Formats: sequence, structure tokens, C-alpha cells
Amino acid sequence: MINRVIENFQKVSQAIEKANEKFLLEQSKSSSSRPQIVAVSKGTEASEIIPLIEHGHYIFGENRIQEAKQKWAEIKNQISDKAENLELHFIGYLQSNKAKEAIELFDVIESVDRPKLAKTIAKELEKTQKKIDLFIQVNTGEEEQKSGIMPNEADDFIDLCVKELKLPIKGVMCIPPVDDDSSLHFALLKKIGQKHGLPLLSMGMTNDYELAATMGATHVRIGRAIFK
Ligand SMILES: *Cc1c(COP(=O)(O)O)cnc(C)c1O
Repeated sequence: MINRVIENFQKVSQAIEKANEKFLLEQSKSSSSRPQIVAVSKGTEASEIIPLIEHGHYIFGENRIQEAKQKWAEIKNQISDKAENLELHFIGYLQSNKAKEAIELFDVIESVDRPKLAKTIAKELEKTQKKIDLFIQVNTGEEEQKSGIMPNEADDFIDLCVKELKLPIKGVMCIPPVDDDSSLHFALLKKIGQKHGLPLLSMGMTNDYELAATMGATHVRIGRAIFK
């Protein structure tokens, strides 16, 4: 019997492949890599995650340091031979006093969104050999309750991160407002990334990942569609 999570994952992969073909056609490109799936495993237990790793998927996203620390120690223990393939993304709000732990635990932090945090990460990276990639989270919908740098402050903030702090910023990330047409937010995010020569675009979740794939996302973060 095939595992439900793997079945869901395969459906999502196929939908992304289709959407990406459309994107490539519109761009008159013949080949380009597909968006990578960050399987968002927050709130999902180790026993549900391990089969997907055994199936050969290694990129996962978490939004809480405490939860991730315990769960991924357990998972790494059980899949020891494959643990080095894992690529763990932190996608939640990061408190500055948790930056050190986040760097130890994760390979990518997608939620760099304010000067204090950026400066703390820079200090911590000076003290470690750990290699990490970073994304700037942009609050494209300018929502009070959401994290992310405001669009009108993004240029200065990215310059601070890249030029002054020399952080390994590789891309930009956004979470569009639930009731908006995501395409406007994806387009704005893409424009900000391009302006600063940042190649990676983390956009698209369960509700809008196919749209994101047709708009050039390099990473889609998918939780419910895989683990539900
Ligand atoms: C939970 C979460 C996701 C995944 O959302 P789904 O709708 O379950 O696909 C993606 N990105 C972030 C930042 C999240 O917190």
C-alpha cells in the first residue's frame, strides 16, 4: 500500500511540473530547473515525515525552533545514513536570541526581515564554520500582524544585509494576504529580487503554488497539500 504522504507529494510534484512547463513556454525557455518543494512539516510528527525522506525527498520547512530541534534530532537518528542529504529551511518568525540555534539547526533561513536580526545573524556567522543560505522576507501585503520588511524599506534593508553585513543573501520570500490575488504579490517580490540580483524566489503555498510556479518561483513551501 502506498503511503498517503508520498501519494500527496507525487500529485503536488506533477502539478508543479505542469505549471513549470507553462512558465517555460511563456518565457520561450527550453530548459530550466523546476521549483524545489519545501515540504512544510510544522505540526507533523516524525513518523509521518520519515517515509517521505525514505522516498527520496530531503527539503523540509519548519517555523518553530523548539519543535524543530526535538523532532529533527529524532528523525536524524532514525535515518542516520541519509541525514547528510537533508536541507532544512526555517520559515517562521525568528527572534534574535534564537539566531544562533537557527544557524546550528537549519541550512536555509528564509525569514530575515529586520536590521536587528540581520546584525545578530552576521555576528553569529563570524563565529561558526556552518554554511547557510538566507532569504529576505518581504511583507508584500503591508500587513500589520505579519513579519517581513515593508516593500518601501526593502531596498535599504537588502543593501544593509548584502553590502555592509556581507550576509549570504540568495533570494526573497513572501506570504501574500489570504484574501488577495497572489499574483500581484509574487510580481512585486520578483521585481525586488531582480533589482538586487537575487536569483531565488520562495513563493507559493498550498493555495497558490501552481500560480507561483507559472511565475518563476524557485521554491514553493507546501504544508497541507502534502501532509493532510
Ligand atoms: C505553514 C506555512 C507554509 C505552508 O502553508 P500551507 O498552506 O500548509 O501549504 C508556508 N510558508 C510559511 C511561512 C508557513 O508558515
